[in-house]
Amino acid sequence: MSKSVLSAPHFHDEAAAFAYVEARVWPTGCFCPHCGGEGVALPGVRGKAKKDKEGKVITPGAVRIGLKRCAACHVQFTVRVKTIFESSHVPLHLWLQAMFLLASSKKGISSNQLSRTLGVTLKTAWFMSHRIRLAMQDGTAGMFGAGGGGVEADETFIGREPGQKVRPGPGHKMKVVTLVDRDTKQARSTVVDVLSSETVGQIVRENVSREARLLTDESRLYRKVGQEFAAHSSVNHFAHEYVSKADPTIHTNTVEGFFSVFKRGMRGVYQHCAKAHLHRYTTEFDFRYSNRVRLGVDDQARFALVVNGIVGKRLTYQTVGRQGAAA
Ligand SMILES: [Zn+2]
Repeated sequence: MSKSVLSAPHFHDEAAAFAYVEARVWPTGCFCPHCGGEGVALPGVRGKAKKDKEGKVITPGAVRIGLKRCAACHVQFTVRVKTIFESSHVPLHLWLQAMFLLASSKKGISSNQLSRTLGVTLKTAWFMSHRIRLAMQDGTAGMFGAGGGGVEADETFIGREPGQKVRPGPGHKMKVVTLVDRDTKQARSTVVDVLSSETVGQIVRENVSREARLLTDESRLYRKVGQEFAAHSSVNHFAHEYVSKADPTIHTNTVEGFFSVFKRGMRGVYQHCAKAHLHRYTTEFDFRYSNRVRLGVDDQARFALVVNGIVGKRLTYQTVGRQGAAA
């Protein structure tokens, strides 16, 4: 029988969890987050050592797992400092469990489920999952379609825009514009307040290389910006044309495929999502889609990518806001 992924020590043992994270955050050796001193860490000690009258140590302070002390500036720190784990009291091995669950569940995992599985409060689970989404953020922001490849663009509607009355059609819903690079198979989504040639045009301009071939449906939103690219081809969904008969490479089925997973996850798992947080969920779905099994990224590799993304992404409870705890 093959071994369960979840039996790995870093999911159960705190010292192993620290070793796992340290190896990724400090691949070339520990450095001090305060003064930047490299390879100067001494084991940190919590609690004062008891000394006798002559100053001889009777009981040394307790060594805390992962605690380091900088030999240059003498400040104590752990690998958690300046990462998504900063100022969290949740043990690191539970953080890693949460990261694995969120990285490996195709349609996401609700905070309620995470709370039950990890044995933490709903509020903690909600906060952890938002921080993990932050670690999933793509820091590269490279242009799609560089080298003249195809980039599909489309928009979808989800939930309800704050303050909007429910009417027939998608007008009252929240709006997401997604781009998929056909060569790299990466997805990038943006939440927009208004769907217009201006807002959509700006997203396309900022993310798609001019030499790319833009592929969309018949929507007016892309007509103007489409002229700025090497080519702009479209299918007419309105006339039930999903793949061009003249040129079968003209379709938006790839981005539609992304939307189908995204919408199933948002409806089935997350259900109520406040607009203020929608961009965090699109980040999560973009991340899993861009690092999926078909591209050779298995669950463990995807989990390792999330761990790599924790640095410099501290998110305070205040910046997340206090609403939306049901998501
Ligand atoms: Zn230092």
